[in-house]
Amino acid sequence: MAAYEYETHDYDVVVVGAGGAGLRATLGMAEQGLRTACVTKVFPTRSHTVAAQGGIAASLSNMGPDHWQWHMYDTVKGSDWLGDTDAMEYLAREAPKAVYELEHYGVPFSRTEEGKIYQRPFGGHTTEFGDGPPVQRTCAAADRTGHAILHTLYGQSLKNNAEFYIEYFAIDLLMSDDGQCTGVVCWKLDDGTMHVFNAKTVVLATGGYGRAYFSATSAHTCTGDGGGMVARAGLPMQDMEFVQFHPTGIYGSGCLITEGARGEGGYLTNSEGERFMERYAPNYKDLAPRDYVSRSMTMEIREGRGVGANGDHIHLNLSHLPPEALNLRLPGISESAKIFAGVDVTKEPIPVLPTVHYNMGGIPTNYWGEVLNPTKDDPHAIVPGLMAVGEAGCASVHGANRLGSNSLIDLVVFGRAAAIRAGKVVDPEAAVPATNTAQVDKAFERFDSLRNANGATPTAELRLDMQRTMQEDAAVFRTSKTLKEGVDKMDKIAARMSDLKVTDRSLVWNTDLMETLELTNLMPNALATIAGAEARQESRGAHAHEDFTKRDDDKWRVHTIARVTGKDVELTYRPIIEAPLTTEDEGGISLDRIAPRERTF
Ligand SMILES: Cc1cc2nc3c(=O)[nH]c(=O)nc-3n(C[C@H](O)[C@H](O)[C@H](O)COP(=O)(O)OP(=O)(O)OC[C@H]3O[C@@H](n4cnc5c(N)ncnc54)[C@H](O)[C@@H]3O)c2cc1C
Repeated sequence: MAAYEYETHDYDVVVVGAGGAGLRATLGMAEQGLRTACVTKVFPTRSHTVAAQGGIAASLSNMGPDHWQWHMYDTVKGSDWLGDTDAMEYLAREAPKAVYELEHYGVPFSRTEEGKIYQRPFGGHTTEFGDGPPVQRTCAAADRTGHAILHTLYGQSLKNNAEFYIEYFAIDLLMSDDGQCTGVVCWKLDDGTMHVFNAKTVVLATGGYGRAYFSATSAHTCTGDGGGMVARAGLPMQDMEFVQFHPTGIYGSGCLITEGARGEGGYLTNSEGERFMERYAPNYKDLAPRDYVSRSMTMEIREGRGVGANGDHIHLNLSHLPPEALNLRLPGISESAKIFAGVDVTKEPIPVLPTVHYNMGGIPTNYWGEVLNPTKDDPHAIVPGLMAVGEAGCASVHGANRLGSNSLIDLVVFGRAAAIRAGKVVDPEAAVPATNTAQVDKAFERFDSLRNANGATPTAELRLDMQRTMQEDAAVFRTSKTLKEGVDKMDKIAARMSDLKVTDRSLVWNTDLMETLELTNLMPNALATIAGAEARQESRGAHAHEDFTKRDDDKWRVHTIARVTGKDVELTYRPIIEAPLTTEDEGGISLDRIAPRERTF
């Protein structure tokens, strides 16, 4: 093996990822005076969070009555009773504080007439514990909320002396023999140098893995690198079978039209011009949660009522809305519709299709962001020195289905929680762990073998096979037969990882090698997803199983824990956390209120 020289960097905390979650964690750590580095493979403000349009949920009550308890109830119900109750309470309770913090950091929120933060309705967000009308809970900066948050948090992090390592690709974690994470190995993309970061705590904020599928709203950089690193460290992923399809990806390109479009009054129609959501969800109609709307759209298409020449998509109508409102509240999507569908939204409907959008599953954590390595004796065992936040993590607040605008709030609430926790557990006076040279060698060995991979299968070809298989066999509709076929196909596809061919052997801006490293991360995410889906014999949230159409709380109200070694997936299960943080007497929500019941809208 070629010897790789490397530069060493010592920090209290290294955050991998500069999306909303990574930046909020970085800022919180740096504010407390911890020596903090943020490592990111793309420029911070190019992280996928920049694309978030619709907004961020918090019960501010700016547009009418709201309570964190109502937000918590909606989140519990939205999760189809698979979330961890303590984490869901923490999210709903802390959300207003986290949003006001963003406001004070400088996020330019849209305003009401009185100057308060503007809030819009979003699917699944209601009043009176689901008995009242929809609530306006989603705080927005027009239709570019993620953009506004990202730029603000990056500026604030710089102001607080966080150090950024931009266009550094994290390859692998450094783990000590006794299971502590002590750092991360990185490759600097623009000059080919190698870097070892030693740290008392590593925070994975690497985002989702939408690119395991063929059609996704997420950026091409969303390749589940955190999940891949964790799998190679012998640690598990959780609830990976739950993949959210957004109802309104633009047909063809997958580009997102925010749910805010329906929040502002848009509605879906089939080939008969019928507003079919009235049939599936009489109360909330087009504002039912995403799994529900995506499934209803798929039913319409399967039953022959899709639109277009092939009857394979659905129409989203906005042309009845006043052009001024479209201009003010949804300027970005009017532009996207023009560019990606050639449609003038003031005159014509937008062609849309359910498209992979969000990964509910991820690296298991508690509500402080500490990574868990559940064992039989201790389902909540912590991995010292390792945290995960944002879409890469699974706290779990979204359970089997995430509500719209609950991810941006998850990023800032748990990014902040991780920083609060680190402030307690990281001792700035203690020594930084020494470089674990055996582990560094191991990471370079893997890197070098991929760099010199000389098989017969180009990376792009194998990636496409994986993406098509996931799209066909692990999408909105799932049957025992398609899932079994999918597992078998993925087993064969994963076996071809040993036959990869990398053409470019250089170290400077070698996108061929970078995409190959990303494929080694996408693959364990995809394998865990399809294996978990095949095993779960019930329907819950985003996992709609045609042969097991009911939710089965007796058997399946458990988290799936998936350990991936090579192409093998080992599945075990962990009970969900049912107890909230506070009792009703303490101002919390009663257990009875959040007990599982049928989920109707
Ligand atoms: C189009 C779109 C619109 C959305 N709209 C909304 C919305 O309105 N409201 C809402 O609540 N949610 C929305 N979501 C979901 C939400 O935006 C995402 O879940 C969230 O932004 C993820 O943030 P993150 O910080 O976890 O990761 P990301 O923003 O994806 O950032 C990941 C970071 O990790 C870094 N990284 C990854 N791998 C490596 C590696 N190997 N080495 C170094 N760095 C690495 C990247 O450089 C990047 O900085 C939307 C999602 C999409 C795709």
